[in-house]
Amino acid sequence: MSRSNELFDAAKTVIPGGVNSPVRAFGPVGGHPPFIARGEGDYIIDADGNRYLDFVCSWGALLNGHAHPAVSAAVVDAMHKGSSFGAPTEAEVKLAEEIVARMPSVERVRLCSSGTEATMHAIRLARGFTGRDLVIKFDGCYHGAHDSMLVSAGSGVATLAIPGSPGVPDAVANLTLVAPFNDLDAVKAMFAEHGSNIAAVILEPVAGNMGCIAGSSEFLQGLRDLTSENGSLLIFDEVMCGFRCDRGSAQGLFGIDPDLTCMGKVVGGGLPLAAFGGRSDIMGHLAPEGPVYQAGTLSGNPLAVAAGLASLQLLDDAFYDRLEQIGSRIDRGLAAHIEKHGLSYFRVGGMFTVFFRSQIPHDFADMKECDTEAFARFHRAALEHGLYLPPSQFEAVFFSGTLTDEQVDDAIKALQMAIEAAVG
Ligand SMILES: *Cc1c(COP(=O)(O)O)cnc(C)c1O
Repeated sequence: MSRSNELFDAAKTVIPGGVNSPVRAFGPVGGHPPFIARGEGDYIIDADGNRYLDFVCSWGALLNGHAHPAVSAAVVDAMHKGSSFGAPTEAEVKLAEEIVARMPSVERVRLCSSGTEATMHAIRLARGFTGRDLVIKFDGCYHGAHDSMLVSAGSGVATLAIPGSPGVPDAVANLTLVAPFNDLDAVKAMFAEHGSNIAAVILEPVAGNMGCIAGSSEFLQGLRDLTSENGSLLIFDEVMCGFRCDRGSAQGLFGIDPDLTCMGKVVGGGLPLAAFGGRSDIMGHLAPEGPVYQAGTLSGNPLAVAAGLASLQLLDDAFYDRLEQIGSRIDRGLAAHIEKHGLSYFRVGGMFTVFFRSQIPHDFADMKECDTEAFARFHRAALEHGLYLPPSQFEAVFFSGTLTDEQVDDAIKALQMAIEAAVG
């Protein structure tokens, strides 16, 4: 038995499902997850010594590969100075300035420790600022694992959501309205019925949690207009697409300024750090300046801040040019196979999905038509060819900007062979 399998068995006796976050268990694709021993640049090495090109990148958090020397040095240096004070530090100011400089709509920002916290606090802030209770989210968008966002769509437009998980009280779930992604008319109908009680519309402008699906420009602009007209806030959850889909994140790419933005993953450079920010007047409602309470013992943790700052500082114009070069090399490398086998493919910046469906999906209902069994074969074959991919059709594939052309070509070859194995 492989060391990974031994570890998985041992894990299951002391950790539910053997993992600390469900998708890691490889449920949708079957088989057992490799246990990762270490990362080296763009490779990860498992407990049995197998080496894979890493196209999960810690679910998008890493844009500079594993243990990048500049990031490692910054974290080690911070550790030597003390890991946590629960008091303000200079590096937090620098990171906040760096975020404000990069996120077009963000004037002030608060740091926290996970994307879940960022969206939870942004929603509380939106409710506190507007004095309203309802929030609109979209079917297939993921905003972390807190109660009000763990709801799936009921059938039909403007249906009040049902709890997506046992443990979420109806009273909480009923405050979340769920609309189909890219369906502006559905959102208009919700505003027509509930407009004066809608605190916010939250979405992933480039969704990464139902496969990689972008909001259309008309949809995003329509949401901007509707929320402004109705005194609601527009919240972009850029935890996944932020800093990854474009230098200016999704809001820069589409030229739309949301009122609030949630960040995570890339902003922490692989350490537990996230953030939410936006219009200065709205952020001023947060305690201690305002009445909306939000706090965290390890918020702005010095190690996490050091990693985030060092990572962002590597993301200059040349970096984004290279990321796009890598992306278009992958586009070209896969085009013939996608076409030949009647699949579809979509990429934005450093994230993409191969859809086992002939048309690019526009919403979660489209996504559900993908052939997930073919995806499972695709995933297994990629792993056998040394490419580590997210173990679900409903997750985007992520790559870093530090890949060499040779590594990109290795990945393309593995993807081509995996497509053949899946559909052949
Ligand atoms: C990952 C993710 C979250 C949750 O972040 P965690 O750090 O896992 O809590 C929220 N929103 C989006 C869009 C994400 O991709």
